[in-house]
Amino acid sequence: MSYDICSICGRFYAKDGQSYCGECRDKDKKEFNKLRTLVKQRPGILAFEASNQTGIPINTIMRYVKERRIYIAGDGKDSGKIYFRDTLPEDSRKRRWTND
Ligand SMILES: [Zn+2]
Repeated sequence: MSYDICSICGRFYAKDGQSYCGECRDKDKKEFNKLRTLVKQRPGILAFEASNQTGIPINTIMRYVKERRIYIAGDGKDSGKIYFRDTLPEDSRKRRWTND
């Protein structure tokens, strides 16, 4: 059996085509859902506020950004606000995002 190193926790796990070990994947899914629920309840919440309220480390939130699972507005009055792919504003193409 071949192994991969989990890019979140750095532990070995049986290679299965995923980037993270099973444990991190479970945790990741829970945290992502938690974030999604919070943003649904409080649209326009800032990334750092969401981190404080959910206890999800800002590093994890920035990883979601890197993986393009969420978007954080880069400038203007919405700067720092979190959006999900399906909650992006209509003019999102004209805006700047921290993902860019
Ligand atoms: Zn892991």
